[in-house]
Amino acid sequence: MSDGGAPTPEKGKLALYWAASCGGCEIAVLGIDDKVLKVAEAFDIVLWPCVMDGKVRDIEKMPDKSIDLCLFNGAIRTSEQEYMAQLLRRKSKVLVAFGSCAAEGCIPALANMNTREEIFQTAYHDTPSTDNPDGVRPQIETEVPEGTLHLPLFYDTVKTLGQSVEVDYYLPGCPPEPDRIWDALVAILTGQLPAPGSVIGATTTVCDTCPRTRNEKKIKEFKRTWEIIPDPDTCLLEQGVVCCGIATRAGCGALCPTVGSPCIGCYGPNEGVVDFGARMMTALASVIDSQDPDEIDRIIQEGIPDPIGSFYRFGLANSLLRRKALAHNGDGRVAEPA
Ligand code: SF4
Repeated sequence: MSDGGAPTPEKGKLALYWAASCGGCEIAVLGIDDKVLKVAEAFDIVLWPCVMDGKVRDIEKMPDKSIDLCLFNGAIRTSEQEYMAQLLRRKSKVLVAFGSCAAEGCIPALANMNTREEIFQTAYHDTPSTDNPDGVRPQIETEVPEGTLHLPLFYDTVKTLGQSVEVDYYLPGCPPEPDRIWDALVAILTGQLPAPGSVIGATTTVCDTCPRTRNEKKIKEFKRTWEIIPDPDTCLLEQGVVCCGIATRAGCGALCPTVGSPCIGCYGPNEGVVDFGARMMTALASVIDSQDPDEIDRIIQEGIPDPIGSFYRFGLANSLLRRKALAHNGDGRVAEPA
């Protein structure tokens, strides 16, 4: 593509894939509006299961590195998703972890607070809407007169794309903002990319782009969003609302705090932040206005009843914690509850 945005006559090959995710990233691609026509001018789309029919075997037959760009959204929850990650890694010159699920695990990785057994018990037995009198569960292999039916293996632990295969670039966001998607596409098309392994986007925080006024923070009480109508101009955190802008990478345009809703961290940790939750807890600890340990405990427990949901909503799989500790049998295998 030229500087003016005009595509080169030579078309590249583009693949888009959807693993463990909600599908919002697929819709976000269409959010670039009429620029999607420029994408179509620049690329032949060889795989996009959400939009067009395509067969895995067709991708398997393609020469290695024959796909110029793969935008892979979704975390790795099953063996099928891992196979597709490995296949598309092999076939693609540039593999982008597209969106928060691929980059960090996002909402699917909150299931890392449970085991597969616990998830299956809830999904196939315990929910009030489940009607399963024979206690049937999905099996990896099922024999039928016509042969053997296969289902992917459901992993105990959700992984990020980067924990399965080598990733060239990360484009965070839940979903990525259309303007950032376009910026990334232009960077890829013009070869103006950062070092491999980088996050494509900003290196500042949401706080740096937030229009609210910041003063000294001294918090006596954290408030849930439904407990307060915030002042429209003052930093939400100063008003006691847990806002994650201080640890979150910019790129969204600070849309949420601008309209009075706290940043929930969907763009992931900013440059240099190793663990998003640890960064947030450190930041909040420094603004609580008390020296009394009992009062500090009360302020935290009453105001932040769900620390994992508040601070690891988007990045548990990519965090230092990664998942709730698993009990082991002593032989390296996970001990499944009876
Ligand atoms: Fe804006 Fe939230 Fe940062 Fe305050 S904490 S400046 S409201 S992004």
